[in-house]
Amino acid sequence: MGYGLAPTLRGFRLRFAMHVILVVSLLTSCWQPSAVSDPAPTVQWWKGNLHTHSLWSDGDDYPEQVVHWYKSRGYHFLAISDHNVLHEGDRFMDTSTRGGGEVLAAYKERFPDWVMEKEEGGAHLVQLRTLEEYRPLFEEPGAFLLFSGEEISDRFDGKPIHVNATNIVELIGAQGGDSVRDVMQNNVDAVLEQRERTGQLMFPHINHPNFGWAIKVEDLIALKGEKFFEVYNGHPQVHNEGDDARPSTARMWDIALAERLSAGLPIMYGLTVDDAHFYYDFDGEHANPGRGWVMVRAAELATDAIIRALEAGEFYGSSGVTLDDVQLSSDTLSLVIQEENDIDYVTQFIGTRRGYDRTTEEIHAEDASVLFRYSETIGEVLATVEGALPSYTFRGDELYVRAKVVSSKLKNNPYKKGEYESAWVQPVVIDP
Ligand SMILES: [Zn+2]
Ligand SMILES: [Zn+2]
Repeated sequence: MGYGLAPTLRGFRLRFAMHVILVVSLLTSCWQPSAVSDPAPTVQWWKGNLHTHSLWSDGDDYPEQVVHWYKSRGYHFLAISDHNVLHEGDRFMDTSTRGGGEVLAAYKERFPDWVMEKEEGGAHLVQLRTLEEYRPLFEEPGAFLLFSGEEISDRFDGKPIHVNATNIVELIGAQGGDSVRDVMQNNVDAVLEQRERTGQLMFPHINHPNFGWAIKVEDLIALKGEKFFEVYNGHPQVHNEGDDARPSTARMWDIALAERLSAGLPIMYGLTVDDAHFYYDFDGEHANPGRGWVMVRAAELATDAIIRALEAGEFYGSSGVTLDDVQLSSDTLSLVIQEENDIDYVTQFIGTRRGYDRTTEEIHAEDASVLFRYSETIGEVLATVEGALPSYTFRGDELYVRAKVVSSKLKNNPYKKGEYESAWVQPVVIDP
């Protein structure tokens, strides 16, 4: 029995082969020291957040302050994704509404001789600086990178349908459609169309499916051309955990993976994001930064390298747990968890086996919407392993295997009270 492996593993193999070639060339050239001075770039983990807000839409701080928040806390990349707007063109903030008082004072203190203010019609206005303008203040090769971003914010029948677009060139805006699924697809298609037309790498991702209970798992299953959705979003109103009738986002992930993979459709990866709006009041009522991020494994901190790594599943999501390594061999998925003193780790390897029970039960939510309950043979816990070096050997009948690490450390300023720091390892597809 052989395992056909996801692109992820092919990437590992390719790099492994490159390392072997490098080692061989080092050995054969050891009598010529000058020949060994140019090693291949090594891959490393880059920390980033793809979903956050500023005063350009409904965030409560200036974009430079938002970028400073992340860069000064060890993030390597950031996309500020405001609602239906890019950070471009002339835009002024009337400080009598937002962005005045202590917010403006702090902005001016950190960025002296930078803030553009004017009085007009009795109002005190502050210019929102463009990404092109503020990018040079922060970007550093190998240290920090900014992406353009837009949270395309659409709706259908009163339900909010949001799709993030990362590294786009032109504003997209809400595309509309005839159903929830149609609206999702039209917005995803608009990003893919721009990618095709401009030749710039960019990608859509589905935001917070349970926000407003807008997106059902069947919509995720049916979506074409989409590789990502948010399995964890730090906004307190997004219902990551579902409710009595509706599945959690993690459960939606398993159902979507099982149904998509068994139908020959592509894998879907789970992103972990902040969706921060509030940078002054930190508590469970506010969407604050620092709740969820991704760690991407790539050879360099560059837009194309990060996007290609994300699209290859070369990343994990985190709300606090750090992994030193995610290792995939032909038959085993292993993690190396970076241990903290006096903290315990429990890893669940989760998957769905081929031939799972595909019967569904029709149920009704309290708003009378019809939902389908899927079999418990979807998203089985295949193994539970304690310690810093969890490993799972594939039985061979799994459609996919993913891993979730939960630590014994309570998260600081959590999305929900009692939340423990966790990590979400991307699914690996196992071909029969
Ligand atoms: Zn949103
Ligand atoms: Zn948002």
